[in-house]
Amino acid sequence: MKIKFTKLLPLSLTFGLILGSCSDEQIVQEDVKTTTAVRAQTSQELSIEPTSRFDLDTERLINDFDLKLKLSEAVEPSECGPTPFNEVATYYNNLLIDSFISVWDGNPEAIDIILGDYFVINQIAATTENNNTDYFGANGEYTNFMKKNVRSLEKFWEMSNLIQVNGQHTATLEDLDFIQYIYEVYSDATPEDIENIMAIAEHFNSNSDQIPENPFFASDGFATFDRTIVIGDGIVTFLEEAGLDPKVVWSSILAHEWGHQIQFLNFGSWEYPVPAFNNTPESTRMTELEADFITGYYLTHKRGATYNWKRVEDFLSAFYFIGDCGFESDGHHGTPAQRLAAAKAGYNLANNTKKKGHILSQQEVHDAFISTLDLIIEDSIL
Ligand SMILES: [Zn+2]
Repeated sequence: MKIKFTKLLPLSLTFGLILGSCSDEQIVQEDVKTTTAVRAQTSQELSIEPTSRFDLDTERLINDFDLKLKLSEAVEPSECGPTPFNEVATYYNNLLIDSFISVWDGNPEAIDIILGDYFVINQIAATTENNNTDYFGANGEYTNFMKKNVRSLEKFWEMSNLIQVNGQHTATLEDLDFIQYIYEVYSDATPEDIENIMAIAEHFNSNSDQIPENPFFASDGFATFDRTIVIGDGIVTFLEEAGLDPKVVWSSILAHEWGHQIQFLNFGSWEYPVPAFNNTPESTRMTELEADFITGYYLTHKRGATYNWKRVEDFLSAFYFIGDCGFESDGHHGTPAQRLAAAKAGYNLANNTKKKGHILSQQEVHDAFISTLDLIIEDSIL
């Protein structure tokens, strides 16, 4: 039984969310590139990659955070790791997989559903109008804080009521009716298929204490061209447990994603040394470094979040350390040093301006970034 979730997705809900005349369907996704591996504790190693039933257009995704489980035998060595973040991710990865295996009857369909579709279903949920997207933190404990942050960003960048910011929660996947609804509406699964799928979902949801409670299931963070930002509780949990202040994490991810929204709004009119958002390492690195620059400017500005540099640095160094050693990858975001340099250059712009209370226009901030891009890449920002 192979079911594809495909073209049934309404355009506005697919990952390809549209920005007017730009290159159609694009998304910028905040991705944590983990190299965590799924640990099989049975005598038999799991060797099958889950294949999601959702056939989404990943060609046009620009990934920042991609917290995915991988079914392989070992954690791949990484120049960037191990970091505290990797340890946290591995811990939750193993909890989830061990729990999966302990209640698994060996049916390979379950891998596709629980370790594949569940992630996609929760990504769709986070970009869909539903009442689970209007709060932040598993119990709404960051809702007011995030609302304040959104208002501050709206004011600072003169972008009132333009951007929709959604929360993502593991609790969404506890709702079997909702899961069934997603299969019905967004896939070509037959009623019989759905009956089988739901029996599997119900079995795992009732018998595992990690499904769907594990933070991996709400670990998205991305900005879409249709002016939506999604931040999952799970990604904040990972970073918090790696030792960061959760409020700094929420604010910083939001400010970075907001930076992408500014780029989207100015897409087509802003000039860049290489074309923006065309999925090459150089292009992605450039737009990511600019989002970092914009983040550094806003977070440290006297009329922005007024962070001192140390706070920004703490967040960024961890955020980026997670990131990305994929120098050849079209999702490459820059080295940790380059990302820090970009944020530092944004900080310098906020602090070296003569009138500190003055907020530069989006265009002026962009121009300042472009004029320092070479120095950022050389990591020679002082
Ligand atoms: Zn980004």
